Amino acid sequence: MLAALFASRAGATVTLLERNEKLGKKLYITGKGRCNVTNQCDTDEFLQNVPRNPRFLYSALRCLNPDGMRALLRELGCETKEERGRRVFPVSDKASDVTRALERGLRQAGVRILLNTRVRQLVMAEKSVTGVQLEDGRTLPCGAVVVATGGLSYPSTGSTGDGLRFARETGHSLVPCRPSLVGLVTKEAWPQALQGLSLKNICLTGLSCGKILYSELGEMLFTHFGISGPLALELSSHLPENGRGEIFLDLKPGLTEEQLTRRLSRDFAAAGKKKLATVMQGLLPMRLAAIFPGLCRVDGEQTCSQVPAQNRAKIVHTLKCLPLTVTGTRPIDEAVITRGGVDVRMINPAVMASRITDGLYFAGEVIDVDAHTGGYNLQIAFSTGALAGKSAAGYLEKRTAK
Ligand SMILES: Cc1cc2nc3c(=O)[nH]c(=O)nc-3n(C[C@H](O)[C@H](O)[C@H](O)COP(=O)(O)OP(=O)(O)OC[C@H]3O[C@@H](n4cnc5c(N)ncnc54)[C@H](O)[C@@H]3O)c2cc1C
Repeated sequence: MLAALFASRAGATVTLLERNEKLGKKLYITGKGRCNVTNQCDTDEFLQNVPRNPRFLYSALRCLNPDGMRALLRELGCETKEERGRRVFPVSDKASDVTRALERGLRQAGVRILLNTRVRQLVMAEKSVTGVQLEDGRTLPCGAVVVATGGLSYPSTGSTGDGLRFARETGHSLVPCRPSLVGLVTKEAWPQALQGLSLKNICLTGLSCGKILYSELGEMLFTHFGISGPLALELSSHLPENGRGEIFLDLKPGLTEEQLTRRLSRDFAAAGKKKLATVMQGLLPMRLAAIFPGLCRVDGEQTCSQVPAQNRAKIVHTLKCLPLTVTGTRPIDEAVITRGGVDVRMINPAVMASRITDGLYFAGEVIDVDAHTGGYNLQIAFSTGALAGKSAAGYLEKRTAK
């Protein structure tokens, strides 16, 4: 949508082809229906939230940055607001208002929108794109194409990887696609017993082969397969290709082991004949407290006065360093974002143009760039889309002038 809008505003005659019955089907489900449309941070901070190929995005963010995106939405009748972590949402908390605003912009700009229209393949003449062939066999001739077909996640929204195939068929190399911002499957079964329990203000550290990949404070969730929630999703984008890793949870990041030891001594002295598992409820949510002695390999049925010093040390250590083993991620269709895609080396980042096919541009999740949660991924799609559209219009203008 951004590519079509910017191309049209730059003077091109634009047709937007969408296979679905409506525009922006994925937008509707973003931010739990509220659409975290961007992140109000500066470029340096933005790029710190892009684990792969951040430098590819400099020109795109210069073309349209978070301020620019908010201004565009305002111009199109959708006011936005900033929340915790500089996340930006529409004031109405409705993702549909973002789509409606963009649609309004497209119509005002005179973009022809064809819904229920799936592109089957690109039509080429030597090294230039000359049109697209549709699923029904018709060919639409054109001077330039922007491929903005998304990745492979949530395929029910239309992103089934067609654009990746177009890229491959026209000789572009791809980085294998894998799920990112996705739940993590654990070897241990105990997280399943805590399904639905969310832990706030913990520190999650992820490692692979002893190397720290990620360490952050925040929130996570136990699920029927292992763990999810913000910290787990973010770790997923740092895991190696096999999706495996080790995790250590610090359940009390605000206290040192010494402080925790003193706290336990005090609590145990005051608790006297109460059971250990009961007293742990003062430190942990009830369901976790109930299984925690078992995780420390300590008998939860013993009274606090019976807990020997070495078991107290085990409890303190486990509170600070509870291990989990990640055996893999959930599948890509459950992932918020696709990692991998069209190799950035095949695209000129100054204009988003293919380096090997004239008139061909790429934008959004189809490219091998992905970011953390927080509005960064949509802003990447918007910025690369805007730059691709503007550049494609410039290319057509130059060609006409020749
Ligand atoms: C559940 C969920 C929540 C998310 N929440 C957020 C959030 O709050 N903030 C954020 O920044 N990011 C969020 N994301 C990520 C964000 O939605 C994507 O990164 C972004 O939508 C990618 O935009 P895109 O235009 O590249 O692809 P898409 O949004 O996937 O759009 C691609 C479009 O191309 C169409 N298409 C595909 N193939 C063809 C074809 N052959 N012919 C015609 N049309 C075709 C599809 O139907 C689709 O409409 C979320 C993702 C998910 C799954």
